[in-house]
Amino acid sequence: MSINIWHPFTQHGLGEPIPEIARAEGAALYRADGTRIIDAISSWWVQTHGHCHPAIVGAIQEQSARLDQMIFAGWTHEPARKLADGLSEFLPDSLQHIFFSDSGSTAVEVALKMALGYWHNRGEARQKILVMEHSYHGDTIGAMSVGARGVFNQAYAPLLFDVGTIAFPEAGAEQRALDQLEAYCSDKDHRPAALIVEPLVLGAGGMKIYSSFILKQMADICRKHDVLFIADEVMTGWGRTGTVFACEQASVEPDIMCMAKGLTGGIIPLAVTAATDAIYQAHYSQDRAQMFFHSSSFTANPIACAAANANLAIWRDEPVQQRIDAIIASHRAFSDRLADRSAVSGLRQCGTILAFEFDDGAGGYMSSLGPELLRFFRDRNILLRPLGNTVYIMPPYCIDGEDLNSVYGVIEQAVDHFGNR
Ligand SMILES: *Cc1c(COP(=O)(O)O)cnc(C)c1O
Repeated sequence: MSINIWHPFTQHGLGEPIPEIARAEGAALYRADGTRIIDAISSWWVQTHGHCHPAIVGAIQEQSARLDQMIFAGWTHEPARKLADGLSEFLPDSLQHIFFSDSGSTAVEVALKMALGYWHNRGEARQKILVMEHSYHGDTIGAMSVGARGVFNQAYAPLLFDVGTIAFPEAGAEQRALDQLEAYCSDKDHRPAALIVEPLVLGAGGMKIYSSFILKQMADICRKHDVLFIADEVMTGWGRTGTVFACEQASVEPDIMCMAKGLTGGIIPLAVTAATDAIYQAHYSQDRAQMFFHSSSFTANPIACAAANANLAIWRDEPVQQRIDAIIASHRAFSDRLADRSAVSGLRQCGTILAFEFDDGAGGYMSSLGPELLRFFRDRNILLRPLGNTVYIMPPYCIDGEDLNSVYGVIEQAVDHFGNR
């Protein structure tokens, strides 16, 4: 009997080849035969400094030989303490407590449970979560509940909990979203527990970008009405949007913040949900019934924490911001080149993320153009994975000008190829 591997977000029935990768380095993946593939989406948005960064690899090797894994309920270890100290340099001052888990989805589950626990332990009946249209917060049931509904979660729809949805603050129509938020927050009969948003960029929802000014206004509305503000920085965190965290650009200090993907430099899984003292204090008591009832077997795995500490050291010691700024400038020049191509619409950039749509009439994630584009890029040894007809680049910060130009070149070829149909 042979066992088949069932891949994520993959329709095996279409019979697409599943190429095998043998090794990776910097901005590239390599096939066993030596074929080099440029990783233009940072291996699904996780890699920040590039593959197999020696400092992170070294930290993992060293830590795994010393203390590999241990229980974190009632016990602690040095890599976790060091990470807490290190994060205090990067996080807003309001976030004084960190809780570990293993993925972006679990960081979001933890955030939702913290928010609901906060109100519960204070004796206020608040269960409603507010969300933004087109959001994505992960694939577990709770994370799907606060994300956009669609073909992705149709089969589970009856099990997803109800939320209050505000519009995506489309440029020129921002006031509508703010008014909706204000209306939800001031509904005295159903006071919301929290608003959860992806700050500045909605990733899986199609790289939709909104302004820092609106992010700030949303946070202010929540503050005014005593509604918790949860920033899901799982994708935006660790430099993606041009600053370490997207919230910085809006001077927003969230009540709860989720991070995962780039926390370890994207080498091994680790997530953190950071919270204010008020949220921690709502669970702090002599009463065991008020503790935060959440754990996973690998909470704060020492090897993952060591990788995260190495990531922080890279941010301190290497010119990471300069690399990010170089990508930003390079994307900007490329967008000027794309701007007058008629097949290209919705050209936009936020930090190291550049995105646009191919006009194909249908649009959306299930656009038939998506798989064709994927194949087109794969055949040219570029790892790009369009979201339907939305093409985006999100490279690791170590990418050099030559590789970036190769990615741009293949995208221009795609515009020539698909734009003239
Ligand atoms: C990827 C992502 C998640 C889920 O993270 P996983 O580690 O894949 O579970 C949550 N929120 C946002 C904004 C994401 O982009």
